[in-house]
Amino acid sequence: MANKLKVATTSLAGCFGCHMSLLDIDERLLDLCEVAEFDRSPITDIKHCSEVVDIGLIEGGLCNAENVHTLREFRKHCRILVGVGACALNGGIPALRNHIPLQECLEEAYLQGVGVENAQIPNDPELPLLLSKVHPIHEVVKVDYFLPGCPPSADVFWKFLTDVASGKEPELPYELVHYD
Ligand code: SF4
Repeated sequence: MANKLKVATTSLAGCFGCHMSLLDIDERLLDLCEVAEFDRSPITDIKHCSEVVDIGLIEGGLCNAENVHTLREFRKHCRILVGVGACALNGGIPALRNHIPLQECLEEAYLQGVGVENAQIPNDPELPLLLSKVHPIHEVVKVDYFLPGCPPSADVFWKFLTDVASGKEPELPYELVHYD
């Protein structure tokens, strides 16, 4: 294909499970590479986006200031931004901390948790500042599509990417996105 789709991926406050699910398209990755090339992504180990990429897949929500910066920068480079997975869509598992004051979370994790001894709450100025709540990405930038799931299945990635590559409006049939 003359003009391959340029696809970038990155992660915010997530677990990389969504990236693992993308890899689960298995040997179809080779077919995908006929119509798309990976730009910034753990797959290529490229750390910065090209000036313009066609599709940006982003997993994870926003739990610290660095996440917000990464999201804004990624958005600038992506023609189509796709929020991938529950963490991007609604904060996901990291957002469970939203019901507990941040200071209490830090004390439980670093001072009072089972098996924690002689610890302190990390306070190195190099560490990104934590947000008091975890936020979904649409609260900060425009998101063009979301792929639901924790993680979205490999077939969801496959269907979405091949629809876009063939110039179609992406559609996810019910069988791919129901969880009942
Ligand atoms: Fe991990 Fe699930 Fe969040 Fe994806 S949606 S980053 S699999 S916790």
